[in-house]
Amino acid sequence: MARTRERGFPADPVTLPVPVADNHTHLESIAGVLADGVAAPTVAEHVARAAAAGVDRIVQVGCDLPSARWTDALLRSGEHPAIVGAVAIHPNEAVLHADAHDVGPDGQSYERAEHHLVPLDDAIAQIGEIAAANPRVRAIGETGLDYFRTGERGAVVQRAAFRAHLALAKELGLPVQIHDRDAHDDVVAVLLADGAPERTVFHCFSGDVELARVAAEHGWYLSFAGPVTYKANEHLREALREVPLELVLVETDAPYLTPHPFRGQPNAPYAVAHTVRAMAQIVERPLEQVCARVSATSQDVYGRW
Ligand SMILES: [Zn+2]
Repeated sequence: MARTRERGFPADPVTLPVPVADNHTHLESIAGVLADGVAAPTVAEHVARAAAAGVDRIVQVGCDLPSARWTDALLRSGEHPAIVGAVAIHPNEAVLHADAHDVGPDGQSYERAEHHLVPLDDAIAQIGEIAAANPRVRAIGETGLDYFRTGERGAVVQRAAFRAHLALAKELGLPVQIHDRDAHDDVVAVLLADGAPERTVFHCFSGDVELARVAAEHGWYLSFAGPVTYKANEHLREALREVPLELVLVETDAPYLTPHPFRGQPNAPYAVAHTVRAMAQIVERPLEQVCARVSATSQDVYGRW
């Protein structure tokens, strides 16, 4: 199994001319011994491999209680200056904490785990404590709405959790990373009703040119992941061309969404180099220029690493 997994990671990219940041990844899902017992590369190995590819900074996202604590501990270890963090209760986690996990359009029902016994309010309060006490936590995320995996009961819970996270981000003066799946209109409505944090990032932007325009109008950032490289997703490439490059970020969302032509294989931060290369072609700008801009924007949003 371990051999399969190792063979499964994408090929190492040509090193980027200017280093960029992977502004959204889940290292706990790809490092160490994974849930299925498979031995994966260590965090240090992922960081080194990324740096060699020209991906020298990472935002590690812990978006359930166990991974938020894991992220907090990783940042506190002081071993990885290349990593800062984001923490939140993911919308699909929020419904489990609230015991409101009705079946969504994906047709699946989800099981509660031990940590879901913590009431939602308490869970979000714990996220706030972690974020407030750790200066290496630089964002609240991912939070938002996921109408693909929940029904109407869950959607009500998700909207309340989203609002609580927006309030938290503003209280702590942190940016927010938004998860928006099949919920574009409601995400925008909540942001406008409550007031978006000064730095608002649509993580793994999945909208079309219309949503891109709305985001750009409000100065919200669009973070592009592997799907912008997939053949079918012309709407994402149109969205990318539509917005000023100053509002564009890049991410892996590892372990998911591996860029073309490695789709279906496990993802890791170094693979962001493949995505940013494709993005430069899409916007028809020199790769150096795109990397330099994305890199600077990453620091505008998350501060210096
Ligand atoms: Zn994510």
